[in-house]
Amino acid sequence: TAAAIEEPITPSVKVNYTQLLINGNFVDSASGKTFPTLDPRTGDVIAHISEGDAEDINRAVSAARKAFDEGPWPKMTAYERSRILLRFADLIEKHNDEIAALETWDNGKPYEQAANIEIPMVTRLFRYYAGWADKIHGLTIPADGPYHVQTLHEPIGVAGQIIPWNFPLLMYAWKVGPALACGNSVVLKTAEQTPLSALYVTKLLHEAGLPPGVLNVISGFGPTAGAALASHMDVDKIAFTGSTQTGKVILELAAKSNLKPVTLELGGKSPFIVFDDADVDKAVELAHFALFFNQGQCCCAGSRTFVHERVYDEFVEKAKARAVKRVVGDPFRGGIEQGPQIDSEQFNKILKYIRAGVDGGASLEAGGERFGDKGFYIEPTVFSNVKDDMLIAKDEIFGPVQSILKFKDLDEVIRRANNSRYGLAAGVFTNNLDIANHVTRALRAGSVWINCFDVFDAAIPFGGYKMSGIGREKGIYSLNNYLQVKAVVTPLTNPAW
Ligand code: ADP
Repeated sequence: TAAAIEEPITPSVKVNYTQLLINGNFVDSASGKTFPTLDPRTGDVIAHISEGDAEDINRAVSAARKAFDEGPWPKMTAYERSRILLRFADLIEKHNDEIAALETWDNGKPYEQAANIEIPMVTRLFRYYAGWADKIHGLTIPADGPYHVQTLHEPIGVAGQIIPWNFPLLMYAWKVGPALACGNSVVLKTAEQTPLSALYVTKLLHEAGLPPGVLNVISGFGPTAGAALASHMDVDKIAFTGSTQTGKVILELAAKSNLKPVTLELGGKSPFIVFDDADVDKAVELAHFALFFNQGQCCCAGSRTFVHERVYDEFVEKAKARAVKRVVGDPFRGGIEQGPQIDSEQFNKILKYIRAGVDGGASLEAGGERFGDKGFYIEPTVFSNVKDDMLIAKDEIFGPVQSILKFKDLDEVIRRANNSRYGLAAGVFTNNLDIANHVTRALRAGSVWINCFDVFDAAIPFGGYKMSGIGREKGIYSLNNYLQVKAVVTPLTNPAW
């Protein structure tokens, strides 16, 4: 692992926006309260952010309601909406590096990852949904009887959106892109750990021509602002990404209030299965990426690495060597593969799971401790001899902890891979097409990556089976989350016509 952490690099970007964004204006929260957002490299305060709660959600929902009911947005031509989204994408592209710097500062992810992969994906996603805006339309239906029947695909109204901290701006894009393309207005609550980038880009979106009130951004906490949004009577739909535990709360709040439809993108414990025909070096590298990417803070992380017994020992040796070589350090430095975890809560939770792994009898092959002595860095950690019933094989750790499990045959590994309350994603590593096809069909997971992992094209749907969620985001699938279907029936009264 890389040498001890040096003095943190000062980011090249300033925090210009710290207030709530309601009806096109930056405003203080109704209570006047603020909360600090922290630098995960040090735990130091980056900025004090206006803290929204129920009253601010009310204000934001009223603005969104007005923008939807009276405003120009849903009534604009789809082409005009598309052009605003395209201009927005151009502005994100223009400010790519500043946005990436804010993201790294607030979240701790490697700057190179943010600047070269994530923020460009945000740009790409808005261009993708800009392309859909003027291609959303209903059907003409041949019903029995003398009727002209058609469907109108209309925006659903005011969408509430609650996002997590692991990919702050990408999660913003997955939610905001389709909602706006379909003509909805939105109240979005960012995660309390990472409020900065959403405020920055939403300012750009208004520069691109978004009318006031169409997208309102509230920084604040879950049980206050988030819960107020999920239970609001005037919110027509709620979309949430976060933990399974909170997902249940959201569904309950939606049911108890106005039965708004809910989409949920939740936790996972995804298998990554390496068969015995594998090129072990390649399998090790991909399995390493599948788990350690983004400090292990991915809902779809390949966190159960199943390896066939014939290649198991070699795999474990090489996986350990790869983890030890992983470059950990200040995410603003070049060549860094792993920055700090998001905050002290996650940091402590991960260290607790590592202890549970050791206590439970798994073999600690690499890492296991905090890295350095400040901030929330954790050593890349590898366990072998992991058994299915160990806590580290069942719970989502959300950190840089790889668990390697041994298997003997195909049916066994399918059964074990599916033996989880989650069903978000899976990786299959083999050159045998029959095996790949068979396993893919048998796995109960929303994404199966064969000989690849974490491919997140804007057009590819993403979402979970079982307790990993409800519904799909991205691609054409996400449009349905933000549309109502109106069936329109007209009698054909004059038989002569
Ligand atoms: P994590 O444990 O990864 O932080 P959470 O599910 O707690 O995941 O958080 C994801 C998002 O959900 C954040 O924006 C958070 O503020 C919000 N949230 C947390 N608790 C609630 C709640 N009770 N009601 C609504 N939103 C919540």
